[in-house]
Amino acid sequence: MFSVRSIIALQLRRSILLLHSSSFSSSSSASYSTSSAAAVQAERAISEGPRNDWTRDEIKSVYDSPVLDLLFHGAQVHRHAHNFREVQQCTLLSIKTGGCSEDCSYCPQSSRYDTGLKAQKLMTKDAVLQAATKFLFLGASFGHILILWQAKEAGSTRFCMGAAWRDTVGRKTNFNQILEYVKEIRDMGMEVCCTLGMLEKQQAVELKKAGLTAYNHNLDTSREYYPNVITTRTYDERLETLEFVRDAGINVCSGGIIGLGEAEEDRVGLLHTLATLPSHPESVPINALLAVKGTPLQDQKPVEIWEMVRMIATARIVMPKAMVRLSAGRVRFSIPEQALCFLAGANSIFTGEKLLTTPNNDFDADQLMFKVLGLVPKAPSFDDAAANVHEAEACEKAASSSG
Ligand code: SF4
Repeated sequence: MFSVRSIIALQLRRSILLLHSSSFSSSSSASYSTSSAAAVQAERAISEGPRNDWTRDEIKSVYDSPVLDLLFHGAQVHRHAHNFREVQQCTLLSIKTGGCSEDCSYCPQSSRYDTGLKAQKLMTKDAVLQAATKFLFLGASFGHILILWQAKEAGSTRFCMGAAWRDTVGRKTNFNQILEYVKEIRDMGMEVCCTLGMLEKQQAVELKKAGLTAYNHNLDTSREYYPNVITTRTYDERLETLEFVRDAGINVCSGGIIGLGEAEEDRVGLLHTLATLPSHPESVPINALLAVKGTPLQDQKPVEIWEMVRMIATARIVMPKAMVRLSAGRVRFSIPEQALCFLAGANSIFTGEKLLTTPNNDFDADQLMFKVLGLVPKAPSFDDAAANVHEAEACEKAASSSG
């Protein structure tokens, strides 16, 4: 017969043995972590620069790497391809709100959902600039030129205008007005971006002539999951708009949203589509769904910080030169959580109280965050040729330092 004491001793010995074997196995797996897919592909991105022949499996294995390893290697690629302290600050203004005919299931601006949002017509030129004033300076009432100059001083270098439309076809008057806004704001020394729905080829050319820096048109999610989110326009129509934008010589801004109910495979699918475009988008916004009451996605559970980190670090490794924008949903994350996103490779944010119609981080809180984290605003870049040379130099430097 065993005594109680000997049974306890036996159990203790077993537990110690188990502990030893588990710490042994975790240390053996640690030795493998140096060759995780994130490590291998990050090294390749650093030595070879951007490539667009990614397979979906390659991106999936980067995405599936242990999250701290992924974060570490995202940070390495980021430091090789960019000045890691620089973060671009963009200001987003809704110049035509609500009443949209599309059925994007996350969007409070769709006329199909009862979200209590009041539809508004296209803002006039004066109203756009005046609203920009309030947006940026909480009611300061200086002249327009001074206001936007101050915006630059405050660090916001890109002014983005969003209109809730399916497309701009048949809106000639409105479109011409927007061309005017683009010219005016561009002349004030800021980069200008628009998001107006689908574009026709000629419209992209006209926007370029007006001085547009970038056009935003998100793919939202993977091709497979897309019909669960939007049924009123196709994935291919979205890709066609991106093609017109690229052909017109405008920078492409395209990313997606996580937290729509998609699987991780769909997040990989989204990144795969973006990373295999003929040229990577210059900007890749990564949004975390902010579920809005009245939309079909109102009950989605919030995205966790580690999901954002995983998405951002993977985007950074597979599209090393892109500006990866920590976009909607940032308001839910603390400064330490946002710091993880910057470390993983994010280098762009939206500043201002609102992102079109959903809340965004407080301006002062963002200034404090920049100070605490030692971040500096990224200067605007207007000379595309110069920007390309700079990027090529950064990659060349990366290649030589990795050897
Ligand atoms: S097209 Fe744009 S504004 Fe219209 S419902 Fe979709 S996301 Fe909203």
